[in-house]
Amino acid sequence: MAIHHQIAIIGAGTAGITVAAQLRRKDSALDIVIIDPADKHYYQPAWTLVGAGTYKMEATERDMADLIPDGVKWMQDAVTEILPDTNTLKLQSGEDVTYDYLVACPGIQIDRDGIEGLAEVLDKNEVCSNYTDPEYTWEVLQNFKGGTAIFTQPATAIKCGGAPQKIMYLADEYFRRQGLRDKTHISFITPGSVIFGVEPFKSTLMEIVDRKDLELRFFHKLIRVDGPNKRAVFEITNHVDDPEKLYHNRKDLPGLEMLSDNTVSIPYDMMHLAPPQSAPDFVKRSKIAHQDGPSKGWIDVNPYSLQHNQYPNVFALGDAAALPTAKTGAAVRKQAPVLVENLLHVMHKDGQIEEGYHGYSSCPLVTGYGKMLLAEFNYDGERDSDPAISRFVDTSKEQWSMWILKKYGLPFMYWNLMLKGRA
Ligand SMILES: Cc1cc2nc3c(=O)[nH]c(=O)nc-3n(C[C@H](O)[C@H](O)[C@H](O)COP(=O)(O)OP(=O)(O)OC[C@H]3O[C@@H](n4cnc5c(N)ncnc54)[C@H](O)[C@@H]3O)c2cc1C
Repeated sequence: MAIHHQIAIIGAGTAGITVAAQLRRKDSALDIVIIDPADKHYYQPAWTLVGAGTYKMEATERDMADLIPDGVKWMQDAVTEILPDTNTLKLQSGEDVTYDYLVACPGIQIDRDGIEGLAEVLDKNEVCSNYTDPEYTWEVLQNFKGGTAIFTQPATAIKCGGAPQKIMYLADEYFRRQGLRDKTHISFITPGSVIFGVEPFKSTLMEIVDRKDLELRFFHKLIRVDGPNKRAVFEITNHVDDPEKLYHNRKDLPGLEMLSDNTVSIPYDMMHLAPPQSAPDFVKRSKIAHQDGPSKGWIDVNPYSLQHNQYPNVFALGDAAALPTAKTGAAVRKQAPVLVENLLHVMHKDGQIEEGYHGYSSCPLVTGYGKMLLAEFNYDGERDSDPAISRFVDTSKEQWSMWILKKYGLPFMYWNLMLKGRA
């Protein structure tokens, strides 16, 4: 016998809690269940600071039970199947939940097996990631004695696209303070063609790269980690014969070996990376996911209204949704009110749907201890900076005030306003 609820929410992360809290504020009579197996909830944006030793991991963690909004039921279970034709969710415990309306936001999956050799060394052997264990990143930085430090990211979509480079800027400053920078090569090796897609942030970042003397390698896709020999193998995916397009501040990295015309093996003394990521497997297998095309696997919603393109009683937001913008908590903050309004319109059958989300996302680009730019942009890749903040500071330049916002202001806002449905 299935359990029935008016609204089912999959995932009690940033998106799930925010939507549940906003719905309850709009109408305290709504019958909402939120399904999530995790007993802890994390403020992931601060993991960058944890990795650099300037924020405590414990401060990023709260008991899930304390965050579920009053009046919302929490089932501590994992969804294993979504059956939208019968409005049914199958849970790991064997229970079925049926719903009138569904909000799907189970986040993004970390695919440790997505690169040969990675699973064996990740979070040990000087291979670290703020995505999986930021405390280990800090350990690696503290133990580093000089040599080659490489920072990389996969060719898949990832959450917070800026995080792989933020930790590099912090590491650079930390190594300088330790007197290690003269005997260290720092290289940012990316499958992409640029350091950041949106101007004027890109230009500022390139100035910082030059000031810090960082090497950039473009069109380099990590394909193998040779843990025992501490080597990372990259495929050069384009412009093999055109150094202008491949390198910026090119260095002679010691021990670098060309394995073929387009494969290079680079020894490292430490490596930070974002592991490959994808939509959770149970989403990929379901009918609410795009079945083909570049968005295959991600939840198929209208990018402006967040309503499902085939199932009008289904909505999605956050990292699991097929939205052509950066996957961030900041994006969720702008998506949630649009989704909530549209869900209520569908419930009230008033025929209105507002296409009110235009791809806003933001990336707080920490560029050192006490320095940050705040990149805000939309679906068109245009700058979309908050007019109130922009009146006082130029967020495209490094600012101490933005660092204070990142370290103190945004976490306060997250726990006390956003997750309470107030921001
Ligand atoms: C290192 C790092 C730095 C970041 N920096 C920033 C930043 O500076 N600014 C910013 O805005 N964002 C940043 N982010 C990204 C931000 O944390 C995410 O974009 C945001 O949390 C997405 O919200 P979500 O609800 O979609 O997913 P999440 O918050 O990840 O929540 C997903 C939830 O779904 C649950 N779930 C998973 N599978 C199931 C299942 N089968 N059944 C039920 N529940 C399930 C999980 O347990 C989890 O609670 C960063 C992330 C990382 C890792």
